[in-house]
Amino acid sequence: MGANPKGVFQEGDRRGFMRAGLDRWVQRLVEETTERVTPASRTPRQRPPGALPELGFLAACTRCGECARFCPPEAIRLAPGEDGLAAGTPYIDPRLQPCTACPDLPCVEACPTGALSLADAAAGWRDIRLGEVEFHPERCVTFQGVSCGVCATACPVGPSALALDDEGRPVLRREGCVGCGVCVRACITAPSSFDLTYGDQ
Ligand code: SF4
Ligand code: SF4
Ligand code: SF4
Repeated sequence: MGANPKGVFQEGDRRGFMRAGLDRWVQRLVEETTERVTPASRTPRQRPPGALPELGFLAACTRCGECARFCPPEAIRLAPGEDGLAAGTPYIDPRLQPCTACPDLPCVEACPTGALSLADAAAGWRDIRLGEVEFHPERCVTFQGVSCGVCATACPVGPSALALDDEGRPVLRREGCVGCGVCVRACITAPSSFDLTYGDQ
């Protein structure tokens, strides 16, 4: 279907071919630019909730720091000079201070440029996932007959994300968990009975 009987490509085929070439070129440009601003040797920064995809975020963020100023637990930090093009941009290190999932998202509200923004303002946290949390029951003391529940008490989302069963054992509900990492830090075991992997928002 790509060529007429004489083997000559028609106009629609030629456009499709050029389009595919352009898409490959844009994809390569995005990969090279991403590598320049986030070298493969460094873990990408965890951005605050509502952050645009990384390249769009870096373009839209003016490094004003307003989001950090309005973050109640001071979870938002500003990237140091060693981050090159990304210096001054906001990020969260949940090992130091996790986001506590403010229901009204004051960081997003404070952002003047839309670098932090919600596609559906009424949705709040519904479409936001800061990371993926995994629960390791073999580390948790409640599976060894000791009562605890500190993690469930600390979870800012509540039982729709982290509940306790009838025997006081944690039950992680992925569909409700926003991946803030509060439980990871709150857990009394060492290492924590939860692991957090950064994810896409
Ligand atoms: S939701 Fe609240 S705690 Fe989380 S980054 Fe935004 S302002 Fe900070
Ligand atoms: S279960 Fe953990 S990561 Fe998920 S919302 Fe609760 S505290 Fe945050
Ligand atoms: S805080 Fe840690 S040890 Fe305690 S119940 Fe939660 S997961 Fe288990």
